Amino acid sequence: MKISAMIKRIVKFITFTDIPIRQKLIIFAAAGIGWFVVIALIGLLAMKYVSYASSELTDNIVPQIQTGQKVVIMIRGANVSASNIVIHDEEEVIMENANRARLLADRASAALTSLLEGGVIKDYSDLTGELIDEFKVHAIKGDLRSERYISEALTGSIHLREVLDDLAALKMQAVEGGSVSPGDRYLLMQTFDEYNNAAVSLVTTLGKFSAHISTIQKTYNKNIKTVLYQAMVLVIAIGFVAVTLLAVFSFFLKRSMTKPLKAITEQIKGLSEGEVDLSKQITVGSKDEIAELSSSFNTLMHTIHDMNTYKKVIEEDDTMEDVYNRMSKVFFENLGLDDVSIYEVSNINKSMKLINSPYSREHVCCNKEILINSNMCRARKTGHTVSSMIYPEICKQFLLAPEKYHVCIPLIVGATIGGVVQIQFEKMQDEEKQKEVPILNSACIVRQVSKAEQYIKESSAVIEAKRLTDALRDSAVRDQMTGLYNRRFLEEYVETLIANVMRNGTQLGLLMCDLDYFKEVNDKYGHDVGDAVLKESASVIAKNARTADLVIRFGGEEFLVIINDAKDGDAQEVAERIRKKTEHTKVKTNSGIIQKTISIGYSEFPKDTQNFWEAIKYADIALYKAKETGRNQVMRFDKEMWSKDAY
Ligand code: GH3
Ligand code: MG
Ligand code: MG
Repeated sequence: MKISAMIKRIVKFITFTDIPIRQKLIIFAAAGIGWFVVIALIGLLAMKYVSYASSELTDNIVPQIQTGQKVVIMIRGANVSASNIVIHDEEEVIMENANRARLLADRASAALTSLLEGGVIKDYSDLTGELIDEFKVHAIKGDLRSERYISEALTGSIHLREVLDDLAALKMQAVEGGSVSPGDRYLLMQTFDEYNNAAVSLVTTLGKFSAHISTIQKTYNKNIKTVLYQAMVLVIAIGFVAVTLLAVFSFFLKRSMTKPLKAITEQIKGLSEGEVDLSKQITVGSKDEIAELSSSFNTLMHTIHDMNTYKKVIEEDDTMEDVYNRMSKVFFENLGLDDVSIYEVSNINKSMKLINSPYSREHVCCNKEILINSNMCRARKTGHTVSSMIYPEICKQFLLAPEKYHVCIPLIVGATIGGVVQIQFEKMQDEEKQKEVPILNSACIVRQVSKAEQYIKESSAVIEAKRLTDALRDSAVRDQMTGLYNRRFLEEYVETLIANVMRNGTQLGLLMCDLDYFKEVNDKYGHDVGDAVLKESASVIAKNARTADLVIRFGGEEFLVIINDAKDGDAQEVAERIRKKTEHTKVKTNSGIIQKTISIGYSEFPKDTQNFWEAIKYADIALYKAKETGRNQVMRFDKEMWSKDAY
């Protein structure tokens, strides 16, 4: 574990995972340039060495070799003249050769001195005396062996010059005597031998010097080759390392960007299909902009998840009170809002009720009159969020304006304002207090309020459904005798009902049902028996409608069945079922068994008309038609019926 963590850290370090993308790219470029600089530096150093070695060769080694060769040539020339001194007997020839030999020996000495101390080497033609070559030679320094060879050679050349003088003097002496005596000849041969030996020794020394210098020359050549080879290998190796590192780096760079982006895309896809999976959170592996994006996205997912969970939980809450409590709790726990009051608007008389608040009804923060006349509440009246932080003293009804900010958010239920959520924030009088409560910074409040608005939006559909169910429980909208909903219920909730149908694009089936010849029952068996038959019939209708449908006692023995989300054929099916069941129901009464039939006319809203009450009228027309054409039947409304019967 520890080793893998270490490796991870090292990889993070060398791939610059934790620094901003802009800096990553700069480092990437700098690293590229850096590697090129290193390669160029190696090339430069190699070139520098090669140029040093070749200047060493041209400035020192080559002139030294040349000088050595020139000296050997001079000595060879001197040798020829020395031989001529011995061979020839003419005074003139002897003198001439002696001079030439001396000159060559002197030049050799001068060249060797130049080699030892540095100077200019001048090469003249023996025959014409013309200067044929001239070059500089540096003093041999630091190379003891060369110094020794050249010093030895210089001594040799000086000695050679002396022997040459002796040889010339001897020969001249012998020639001046007229003829060369055997004694002279012997002495002459001896001196010539001495000369030869000196010349051979000098040439040998120079040969050794040449060999030594050649070795140095070879070493330089070899070094140049080695340096060039090494530089090439280094450049290739460094190039390879650089390319590998840059490739690794760009791989990680690419991965660090594409991996979270892919994950985010996946999540967005999931979201668009309505799935929020927190287990698929994006791992934030770095500390750059991508990481910021990832963690923001994770937060977003959390928010959506919280919102979804919240919605599911409130959907399953039993009462409106539970929902309002949950809303306050979520505001406090998730958003840190602790001063929230929820007002509920009554649909019937447009009054307002304080439902959930840290304040009692007596200490409500707004003018109490809003509770009687909700139109005085700005948020309720306009349907817009009212914030004193954006516009100070925006609402005259808020009484705590000097101490507090208020944000009032309307709770839109269906097509109406079902309530108002009021959030209050302490106004900070001095800076000391401001520090104590850091939440009170306006950007933060704006964020919290916008989240609160989201929660409120999520709640509205649930509140709408809950209010409807709650209302259904209300006895004021129920018929005492049959237990069905009464006409008042319909009048009160028709608005919500229509808003729902319009928003969801669904259809309502409106079934108007009327018992056939019911008057007879009253007339024959009395009103009580009539009531019993009526109750039983109501029960048959309610049982044969679907759970989501609404059954309303519309008139005396007239029932309206509202079929929710009615697909084509649904209304006909339910109507037919009710008709058949009624026909076969035997109502046991004190006066015996009574069997009645029922006629049903129906229409569809908004298919037949955009006006709900008109659609009910149409159902009534269809019912009339059913009665007229024989009773105990189901009849769908047709435009023809409308025009023909001219209602
Ligand atoms: P049809 O509808 O087939 O044309 O004939 P009908 O005999 O049913 O005629 P109508 O609908 O005009 O008569 C309704 C009768 O229902 C009139 C009224 O006395 C009776 N009625 C209405 N409300 C009640 C009630 O609550 N209890 C009883 N027992 N009778 C009621
Ligand atoms: Mg009737
Ligand atoms: Mg009737």
